[in-house]
Amino acid sequence: SLRISSMVKRISESQTAAVQALSKRLKDSGRRVNSALCIGEPDYQPPDVVLDAIGKAGDEGHTHYTVVQGDSELRKGICDYLRDKKGAAYDPAQVCVSNGGKQAIYQAFMAVCDPGDRVLVPTPCWVSYHDIAQLCKAQPVSITTTAEEGYLLTAAHLEQALQVDPGRCKVLVLCNPCNPTGAVLPRESLEAIAEVLRRPEFAHIYVLADEIYEQLVFDTPHVCFASLEGMQERTLLVGGFSKGFAMTGLRLGYLAARKAVAAAATKLQGQITSCASSVSQRAGLAALRSDQAEWLRERLQELREKRDYTVKRLREIPGVACPLPEGAFYAFANLSGVLWERGLSGQDRLLRRAARAPRRGAGAGRGLPRADVGAPLVRVLDGGQDLQSAMDAFADCVAELRPAP
Ligand code: PLP
Repeated sequence: SLRISSMVKRISESQTAAVQALSKRLKDSGRRVNSALCIGEPDYQPPDVVLDAIGKAGDEGHTHYTVVQGDSELRKGICDYLRDKKGAAYDPAQVCVSNGGKQAIYQAFMAVCDPGDRVLVPTPCWVSYHDIAQLCKAQPVSITTTAEEGYLLTAAHLEQALQVDPGRCKVLVLCNPCNPTGAVLPRESLEAIAEVLRRPEFAHIYVLADEIYEQLVFDTPHVCFASLEGMQERTLLVGGFSKGFAMTGLRLGYLAARKAVAAAATKLQGQITSCASSVSQRAGLAALRSDQAEWLRERLQELREKRDYTVKRLREIPGVACPLPEGAFYAFANLSGVLWERGLSGQDRLLRRAARAPRRGAGAGRGLPRADVGAPLVRVLDGGQDLQSAMDAFADCVAELRPAP
């Protein structure tokens, strides 16, 4: 019979894409949908220079393929940005511009992982790392971080994870700032991690530094992993335009890495998507060439207010804990207290495991039986249009959580 490959069957659908699709379907059916707690994208528009550049790109004929690796002016602009703002010196030959950070991550794993290699992922984490690693035939391995430690990976936890088959450990993922916890690894934590990786027995390990949210930090300054002594060679730096510049739909991101890795990623990209959109590349260049510091400060102030409000509302729900996010635009609420109290945990071993150690991001949903989370999600989506009504609906949902019949 006609079949779908076992590889595709093994990986799960992107959870964020699934929630977005549900929200769209409900909207199309005439429901009033609040997606304030839905997909990870800013609710503001990109800076005006970006919008102007999109229009101009067509007028100026930037509608053709660029070289696969990305337009050389844009790659130079990215290198200038990384040098001036992040203290990391790259050559344009070390940059591969892709269709969003997600593709850059896929190509980075593909470029360095052989089948069975271990990809260490501190959790709670962004929903896609495990599945992308599996797509690359690598083996994702979770390292649990806890709320008590501010969801920061410690050197001790890293050392412990590296004890298992260290020769096969190929990549450590550091998502900083972190989706979904909003944790920002301070310099001391990064230095402690780098110190472990400097040991000769770990010299073969890369760090996938997913810094797609680097512009969105509140009080802890962002430190680029590649700027640490001796780490640039080891770093697969993923950056992009989706989050800080609110250009999610333009699909523009990049990988900066040692030349051989950037070349491998480019070779791969040449066979899957060719270049990123030429229009988006012009828009990205405009964003980098203009001074957006003041614009960004204003956006951060708005995000800070929303963060404070969201965390306050979450902490008002009995049994819910939420550490203060230091970056990105997420709040990671721990519902395990509520679940235990309602006796939900006794109903299902899956639920019990999820409550004790949330394995992945996207809120409490992952790993819970669908019957328990489906209804609350729809309820949240049904709220009014603003953050306040979304939080009202969320609080109602938590109040209604019941054991599965
Ligand atoms: N990395 C993280 C941690 C993310 O949260 C996202 C998007 O949600 C991405 C990468 C992918 O970004 P892009 O939209 O540029 O592909």
